[in-house]
Amino acid sequence: MNVLIVEDERSLSHEMEIYLTKQNFNCDVAFNGKSGTDMVLSNEYDFVLLDLGLPDMDGLELLREAKKKKCEAAFIILTARSEVEDKIKGLDLGADDYIGKPFSLAELQARMQAILRRKHGLKSNVMQIADYEINISNRTVHCNGNLINLTKKEFDLLHYLGLHKNRVLTRTQLTEHIWGDVLDDDYESNYIDVHIKNLRKKLSAQGSVDWFETVRGVGYRVNL
Ligand code: CA
Repeated sequence: MNVLIVEDERSLSHEMEIYLTKQNFNCDVAFNGKSGTDMVLSNEYDFVLLDLGLPDMDGLELLREAKKKKCEAAFIILTARSEVEDKIKGLDLGADDYIGKPFSLAELQARMQAILRRKHGLKSNVMQIADYEINISNRTVHCNGNLINLTKKEFDLLHYLGLHKNRVLTRTQLTEHIWGDVLDDDYESNYIDVHIKNLRKKLSAQGSVDWFETVRGVGYRVNL
């Protein structure tokens, strides 16, 4: 998943970047509001971690601009400001959560997970797809009690498709969200297909994968 960190405090943004990269997020970083706004409007992010006190603008301006352009990312506001008014303004503008500085990175990640659960209607960190149990916290997949060994990317693919069940995800969307980059066309489709093929093979060794559809010429869908 793709995360944009908009934070001018370099040591903090660096810490967040390192931590979240370890947790398998693809991170971009902006140190001011102008470049943050440009990045939000030109890329598809799953999360934007947004500082309010930016050197060139109020972070709320960036949020307002992004929402005007129908940006679908979840926004978490990082702020040392404790004013109730700012919080209300941010939530009114469509922020998903607030976290006060200083915060622990583990708490930040837990909040990101909570937003994902809310957004996708999950009741816990375990996602059920037919007989398969996908545990998002410890990144394991079981089928009828058997552990299935997936690579990082295979897990990310299954997780992402599962979050967007019943929706066709294109190869480009999957590449952007899992790898954080758009690769050139030929390479890209082949690359995704190989990972999907391996994933499907591992899953089907344990149960039925009728729900795992290939939509010819478009992409893939978890059809439940
Ligand atoms: Ca700041």
